[in-house]
Amino acid sequence: MNNGKLAIYGGPKIRKKPLPYRKLFDEEELENVKRVFKDSWREGVDFGYQGKYEKLYTDKFCDFQGGGFADAVSSGTAAVYLALKAFDIEPGNDVIVSPVTNPGSVTPAVIQGMNIVIADSAPDSFNIGPDEFEKALTSDTRAAILTHLGGQPIDIEPIIEIAKSRGIKVIEDCSQAHGALYKGERVGRFGDIAASSTMFSKTLATGGCGGLVYMQNEDYYWLIRSLADRGKHFRLPDFDFRDTGQCLFPALNFNLDELSCAIGLSILSRLQSIIDKRLEITAKIDTSLEASSVVFPCRSRDDCKPSPFFHTVGVAVDKLKVSKKEFAKAVAAEGIWINPHYSQLVSEWKWLHKYVKNGLKTPNARRFRDRTFNLLFNEKFSDGEVEDIISSVVKVESFFKKDR
Ligand SMILES: *Cc1c(COP(=O)(O)O)cnc(C)c1O
Repeated sequence: MNNGKLAIYGGPKIRKKPLPYRKLFDEEELENVKRVFKDSWREGVDFGYQGKYEKLYTDKFCDFQGGGFADAVSSGTAAVYLALKAFDIEPGNDVIVSPVTNPGSVTPAVIQGMNIVIADSAPDSFNIGPDEFEKALTSDTRAAILTHLGGQPIDIEPIIEIAKSRGIKVIEDCSQAHGALYKGERVGRFGDIAASSTMFSKTLATGGCGGLVYMQNEDYYWLIRSLADRGKHFRLPDFDFRDTGQCLFPALNFNLDELSCAIGLSILSRLQSIIDKRLEITAKIDTSLEASSVVFPCRSRDDCKPSPFFHTVGVAVDKLKVSKKEFAKAVAAEGIWINPHYSQLVSEWKWLHKYVKNGLKTPNARRFRDRTFNLLFNEKFSDGEVEDIISSVVKVESFFKKDR
């Protein structure tokens, strides 16, 4: 049975109105930005960076995390770059990276002259698992940059244990998992340093572009501060930023400005409610998927509470007459946000191949990618949007399901 021609063949769409735009940056953020201006007018100094708003923002973030130190920087890529730089690893050594991630989580290692070793994901997951981590180790492994993908926490504890025993430094890339919990603790608290992006589409955002470095170790904190600001020796008792002779080493400038920190501060007050709303939506999608015989929920680990960035659902590809990609394209054509070509598999990036040391194959990650698709959504989705997602899936599968 089918209820009308598929939109991909020119039929009417299930979702006629555009899906609701996120509008993360709202009146409260505008008010906070105005505050930065008004403070500067009152104080008679133009706003810059490393001021009051960065302090408020990073303090609030550390409260949210349950302690630690944080430095606001210019992008997620910069945050990963700085975290890796802090470990002072000799070029030519190996760095393990996640099988599925953003280029910003990998290229800082290339830029610093390291060889890339791509670990596979755990079965039925986009995230690296402890066994896959172990398999990726070489005698030259010095660090690992591990992404909690799509808001799902990695099974991080056993990985940290292995890494510690071998003196390997771990960076958690939390760009897609702000506020996610692993065994009751926020991600970012497990590795040596955590890096994350706070660009506009991330769950915690500070404006168009931004990043955050977070750690438990105070020495790393001061080192990151210097690495992110031309080697300034902030810890010197008589530190004077005008005395450029005091710099510790040559370093670039990755500062985040006060306007961005003011936006981040404002979003942080709502971060938990944003995450809760997103969790509510993904739970509803999963429950509604009972109406589908082809698409099914991918459950999270029992000991974790994700911070959903996108929502991965499984596709019973054996039940389809077409490829998963064709199926996903047809669902997208109904007016639903889906990425049918999920291209964040590191092993498939040709431009990276010459920097990769291992055999490039991550079969678990590929298999999972080929049997899932990612639903894109935001915290403004209501029940009506969830219904349209499910109706689209059910409509498309009625066309493409194999006859028994
Ligand atoms: C977005 C993202 C990055 C890059 O962050 P930018 O702020 O865009 O530089 C790095 N890693 C992951 C996992 C990301 O999602």
